Amino acid sequence: MVLPTLIKSVKYLVSKPYTRIVPRKSQPFKTESIRGAHVLDMLKCVGCSMCQQVCPAACIDMVVVEGEYPQNPKKRFPRIDHSKCTFCGLCVEYCPVGALTMTTATGYELFTTSKDSTFKEPLKLKEALGKVTVTKDLFTSAYAQGVITKESSSRG
Ligand code: SF4
Ligand code: SF4
Repeated sequence: MVLPTLIKSVKYLVSKPYTRIVPRKSQPFKTESIRGAHVLDMLKCVGCSMCQQVCPAACIDMVVVEGEYPQNPKKRFPRIDHSKCTFCGLCVEYCPVGALTMTTATGYELFTTSKDSTFKEPLKLKEALGKVTVTKDLFTSAYAQGVITKESSSRG
């Protein structure tokens, strides 16, 4: 009884893993409204921290960025850890000034082997890695059309 188990263990120790490596080159699956990497408009962001407050994954923190931002006197902007983000879009929905949007850049394109590079600093979030797909208007019009209600959203 013990010997077959031992043989099996040794066999698995020297065989290749079952998991497959993430394809770095193949085209990822996309839809019209896919929720991918964020873009931050630093000339709109007022540094209110609302995105940080509503993020269910606690993957946003606020950091100071030097520069001239008249609408944001404390120069505080969101930084997002994409390794924790669930791409739910709540930060986009709740931003009072529509400073955050989401793009077609998905997990495949954000693939990295370095844990440090999953943190997207505000200046990195300025760059659109893909086509913009999700804006605050998407949520506003869904509420207006009754597609989603405040009640169903809070149950969500
Ligand atoms: S998409 Fe959702 S999980 Fe990701 S940063 Fe925004 S609120 Fe947090
Ligand atoms: S991105 Fe929007 S919600 Fe987040 S701090 Fe800036 S203004 Fe506030």
